[in-house]
Amino acid sequence: MRFGDHGGRYVPEPLIPACEAVAEAFADAWADPGFRAELDTLLRQHAGRPTTLTPAANLSADLGLRVTLKREDLAHTGSHKINNVLGQALLARRMGKPRIIAETGAGQHGVATATAAALLGLDATVFMGQKDVERQSLNVFRMRLLGAEVVPVHAGSRTLKDATSEAMRHWVAHTEDTYYCVGSVIGPHPYPTMVREFQSVIGIEARGQGGIPDYVVACVGGGSNAAGTFSAFLDTDATLIGVEADGGAALTKGAPGVLHGFRGYILQDAHGQVVEAHSISAGLDYPGTGPEHGHWRDSGRARYVSVTDDEVLAATTHLARTEGILPALESAHAIAWVMRAARTGELPRGASVLITLSGRGDKDVPTLMGAHQ
Ligand SMILES: *Cc1c(COP(=O)(O)O)cnc(C)c1O
Repeated sequence: MRFGDHGGRYVPEPLIPACEAVAEAFADAWADPGFRAELDTLLRQHAGRPTTLTPAANLSADLGLRVTLKREDLAHTGSHKINNVLGQALLARRMGKPRIIAETGAGQHGVATATAAALLGLDATVFMGQKDVERQSLNVFRMRLLGAEVVPVHAGSRTLKDATSEAMRHWVAHTEDTYYCVGSVIGPHPYPTMVREFQSVIGIEARGQGGIPDYVVACVGGGSNAAGTFSAFLDTDATLIGVEADGGAALTKGAPGVLHGFRGYILQDAHGQVVEAHSISAGLDYPGTGPEHGHWRDSGRARYVSVTDDEVLAATTHLARTEGILPALESAHAIAWVMRAARTGELPRGASVLITLSGRGDKDVPTLMGAHQ
């Protein structure tokens, strides 16, 4: 499956039947009202959906806009990641796989995977770069409390990119009993499509709750909360804006390339070597972006912009103090761009702006304490 020039399935030969099996199982499940009903029930009873759409009255008055916030920070485990993970864990069980594996950077996808595995009675193994294991000890402990095994990865830069490579390597050797639960709209087909579909609940709910805004804004790491939001507004006149971290801006500063089984915009040097991403928010520290975003960028259906760590820190405090909501640093990227665009006039006065608040900031308090010293 391709999105323009992007997407595809660039995996070692032994993984092709495994990806094919996931694609078939997903197509079958997604067309099955029984599967959809079971997922809806889990999302409602376990994950706290539907999440609220909050009119941000104070921020709106301050910026001269009409801002609403889609509150994924209120979902169970603190971000949108649970939407995707519950879907894939149900699929793993439907495929008869007793075990799921995942990669994680900051640990948010790992915690969500451990949570879904505990709920559905699956074994979970989470691959995490050694550097991230040290930086995110609280989430490592959380995963272990939930019964998951956390495997530190010592290869390469010992971060998310290496954890993802290791998870794929492990999957090659264990496809018989193991399902690979990918954390964003990346990876070989069918993952980018499947993860977007599981995250589309964000956009569908938001449209039902607030109608069609002039602008839809979401942060982009791999791109799953943005894709899940944008997908419900593709058929409208809404302007779609994806906000990247300045140090991880693959869509604004990268070039097409192949990473982790797919072709998409990737941060790379002049020789095509993948470059490490650097951002204050660990969740945006990934050098690639989902292939469908590459297609939306090329076709002009969505625009991609980037903001600096300083703008993000200012936006985090501003949202906390105007609305009483402490956003995840990832989500604060979307807020930061809206604040800038309101100031420069790029967002016209009175425009309606839907911002997806992908997660809550509790996990970032240690980082914020460091930054505000
Ligand atoms: C993981 C994460 C992101 C980045 O992932 P996407 O796939 O781009 O959505 C953004 N926000 C939060 C809160 C996250 O945990």
